[in-house]
Amino acid sequence: IMKYDNENIFAKILKDKIPCDKVFEDEHVLSFKDINPQAKLHILIIPKKKFIDIADFLENADEEYQSSFWSSVNKIIIKLELRDKGFQIKAHKGKDGGQEVFHFHLHLLSNS
Ligand code: AMP
Repeated sequence: IMKYDNENIFAKILKDKIPCDKVFEDEHVLSFKDINPQAKLHILIIPKKKFIDIADFLENADEEYQSSFWSSVNKIIIKLELRDKGFQIKAHKGKDGGQEVFHFHLHLLSNS
């Protein structure tokens, strides 16, 4: 079983050890632009707590934390005016899912 790597790139962003192009931040999440955008808008949303991937998050984050996380996701959708225009949300899980950074994150993409 995989262990959370404290030196992963998003852990370093959370610790301010490397910079990011921040879009939104609150108590529970940080959101910033993807360095290699796959759409006109491509941002990443990460919980501040340490989860390796979406399965780890769904299994191990308590309900209150999960609910706060999704509420922050909703704030971002509204703030970026995507609510009515449209968007995609993706999560890569594991090697076969194409995951490269092992701190749980959502991709939020839109061509609006
Ligand atoms: P994945 O783990 O497959 O969801 O992919 C990780 C994503 O993080 C890719 O889309 C990368 O372009 C993006 N990424 C990697 N390093 C950084 C960084 N320092 N700042 C912003 N985005 C990054």
